[in-house]
Amino acid sequence: MPETRVPFYGHVRQYHNLKEEIDRAITDVLESGTYVMGPRMKQFESELAGYMGAKYALGVNSGTDALLLVFKALGIGQGDEVITTSNTFFATAEAIWLVGATPVFVDCEPGTRNIDPTLVEEKITPHTKAICPVHLYGQPANMLALAEMAKKHGLLMVEDCAQAIGSKGDTFKIGELSDAVCMSFITAKNLGTFGDGGAVVTNRDDIATTINKMRNHGSDRRSYHSVGYNSRLDEIHAAILSVKLKHIDEWNDLRIARARDYTEFLTGTGLRLPQTKPGYRHVFHLYVIETPRRNDLQAYLKERGVIALTNYPVAIHQQEGFPFGLGDPHPVLPETEKNAAECLSLPLYPELTRGEAQIVADAVLAWEAGRAPTVVAKA
Ligand SMILES: *Cc1c(COP(=O)(O)O)cnc(C)c1O
Repeated sequence: MPETRVPFYGHVRQYHNLKEEIDRAITDVLESGTYVMGPRMKQFESELAGYMGAKYALGVNSGTDALLLVFKALGIGQGDEVITTSNTFFATAEAIWLVGATPVFVDCEPGTRNIDPTLVEEKITPHTKAICPVHLYGQPANMLALAEMAKKHGLLMVEDCAQAIGSKGDTFKIGELSDAVCMSFITAKNLGTFGDGGAVVTNRDDIATTINKMRNHGSDRRSYHSVGYNSRLDEIHAAILSVKLKHIDEWNDLRIARARDYTEFLTGTGLRLPQTKPGYRHVFHLYVIETPRRNDLQAYLKERGVIALTNYPVAIHQQEGFPFGLGDPHPVLPETEKNAAECLSLPLYPELTRGEAQIVADAVLAWEAGRAPTVVAKA
């Protein structure tokens, strides 16, 4: 096996950079004796709501649960359709299936790979209840166009913001044009804990009240219940996230800087590079390039100690078992399928150095030129 010279993830480096503060936060929780539904979750919720400029943030178990609880809170269920994308992490559609509704997939834009708003209207039926755009790779979907569509047809809007905390549109903010925003804090996300975590961010009082109960066995006071879930953000994760949230803008800036480096190094090749829309803040959860020889490039990089992964090589409608009992088994999604076949995510995290980005880019350029890399991996 070649030595790994540029790993795909940076979260252990991030931990080492904040070790003292994080260790202290964890120890404080351990000593406090309260591990669920305590003051750390409350504090993080208020910090997150402040950061997002929203009225409420509610900590839950995961991004998947955030989606599930929002769809439930909005009364979306059997017989309902939710318009979303197929080139996303499986959980986006999974949450729709889990509430008994049907995800209806719209193809993605050739440029940003976000949901193509021009293809939404033709998918709207009398059963359509909501649109669920994903801010893919860290760039907001075109919320203005989508919100216009939602307004015209009386649809709800749920943002899957698992990959895009800190991002912005040209003239809109995340959460401004929707009913609720779903966040994930699993380790590798731009804001990640050491395990699972998620949140629902909303300005709607009714959604906040419902989810506050639903995440805690349908209870907002001791011993009184309706049927809900067990989905709370644990105190340890909340404490860690409070430490990390203070750094999110600076970390996103570093991601953007390294993305700029990659684009500088790789411009002029035959590779498709990520595109940022004018005026948008794309926070580069992932830096995804595209090439028809993706598998070959990925293997070549691995041989040279550069770990690149694929997000997402099997689109949701290409999964075995699709449509899982519900929905059109053969949606026509050529851009999504091209994206799945050709995408390759290069290592990108705030702790990645420009030098490392150079090593990655050199290896990519060497592959493209069919020549040996300038820097040869140690045997
Ligand atoms: C990570 C992710 C989720 C799921 O979040 P979890 O916290 O892993 O449950 C949902 N949607 C998208 C787009 C994601 O990237």
